Amino acid sequence: MKPVLSVTSECVPLVKTGGLADVAGALPDALKPCGWRMRTLLPGYPRVLEAAKRAKELAGFPNLFGGDARVLGGKVSGLDMLILDAPHLYDRNGTPYLDDQGQDYADNPERFAALSWVAAEIAEHGIGGWKPKMVHCHDWQAALTPYYLAKRGSPAPSILTIHNVAFQGIAALDRLHSLRLDPVDFSPEGFEYWGQISTLKAGLVFADRITTVSPRYALELMTPEFGMGMDGILRQRQSVVSGILNGIDEEVWNPASDAEIATFKTARGKSRAKRQIVKELGLTKTDGPLAIVISRLTHQKGLDILLDAIPAFLDGGGQVAVLGAGEKALEAAFARAAEHPNVAVRIGYDEGLSHRMMAGGDAILVPSRFEPCGLTQLYGLRYGTIPVVAMTGGLADTVIHASPMALRSGVATGLQFSPVDAAGLAAALKQLMALYAEPDIWAELQANAMRQRVGWHASALEYAALYDSVSGAS
Ligand code: ADP
Repeated sequence: MKPVLSVTSECVPLVKTGGLADVAGALPDALKPCGWRMRTLLPGYPRVLEAAKRAKELAGFPNLFGGDARVLGGKVSGLDMLILDAPHLYDRNGTPYLDDQGQDYADNPERFAALSWVAAEIAEHGIGGWKPKMVHCHDWQAALTPYYLAKRGSPAPSILTIHNVAFQGIAALDRLHSLRLDPVDFSPEGFEYWGQISTLKAGLVFADRITTVSPRYALELMTPEFGMGMDGILRQRQSVVSGILNGIDEEVWNPASDAEIATFKTARGKSRAKRQIVKELGLTKTDGPLAIVISRLTHQKGLDILLDAIPAFLDGGGQVAVLGAGEKALEAAFARAAEHPNVAVRIGYDEGLSHRMMAGGDAILVPSRFEPCGLTQLYGLRYGTIPVVAMTGGLADTVIHASPMALRSGVATGLQFSPVDAAGLAAALKQLMALYAEPDIWAELQANAMRQRVGWHASALEYAALYDSVSGAS
């Protein structure tokens, strides 16, 4: 087995704020059959250390960005983990990035520079007799790894995966020293970004390969509209940029064995799950379709667009159920929308409810303004819950629009809409209603959706091929 080090700030099942955690948690198992053994370096947040009580100390790192640290190694929750125990950086309440008041920790750049520094140490010298052939870094939190490796003249190759270019690891120029950066590289050819430091940009400049989580998002990132200022460097490096779709965990998301629901193997079995969720959410029984949303409530996710498009859908007999948390204004707006008897809103994060809604919903709405890959439309496909998605990023790559031709050819799996605005979504919801009214067509859509392969197999093969090519191993 060829060894590879994954560097990430979150990883399912230990710590998760978004899709990055799902990918980091799923890749190690998915890569095994492809000949790669992945160990994952993760910060020792309190709950991670709690789960890693039996891990052994492998190395000490005195004075790591302001305090002493060590790396623990061992199997944790089934994963082969390396945990960076640095209490001065990670022993805090709150989420991995935000304090109890929802503010970014002021030292976030240093907290994750330390992670990247240790990753570079491990890539160069190995740890506990184990040395990776290459490093796979995720997002801005791990993006200084390729930079530190390059500055040491290390031959260890690196890949950087962008899960969401909106998060760029920005720090003021006066942090150069505390981030262990060389002032020489504070230039447009280095990590300088509009007069500040961007750790993401450092990674984009110095990584051997850059991937993102769908082919379409890879292309979008090279445009000013979606690149968020990183489009220039990505265009320069386009010969090493590629898109590899995320998969989902087909065990965790399996309608035939999901412990949260009345299980089903074909879409016909969904009616029981629908009855249950309608009851649980306090909705009334109707003949119309139940459209669900499971999402962070943020501008990116386009849910303000949904608020504008809901009334016509409700007037047509539809129902809407939303599970999410995020921006306060959106939370309040959805709470108001829930005054309508055919709208149910649950503010908060609830894994179990997300499964029950996915099983009982007829359609899942994902009106994102941009979406690197998106996972909930993939869960929707697996559960025969028809995705209605904005035509962007991974949403466009994973849903086959029910055009007349796709319907005739028997390949349609959902609906895509563009432009991504209220009128576009309203038109898609109108089409959804029309399709739902034709039971044969609807059943075929569901069957097509449930047949689509959404697991990790194909993507793991692509990552393995990339690892082979970048590390010279095969
Ligand atoms: P992002 O990473 O941008 O938030 P993704 O679609 O890639 O979007 O991943 C979001 C993940 O978080 C999915 O697994 C989704 O089911 C989950 N999720 C989002 N909001 C909630 C919530 N309120 N309750 C439960 N799960 C949620």
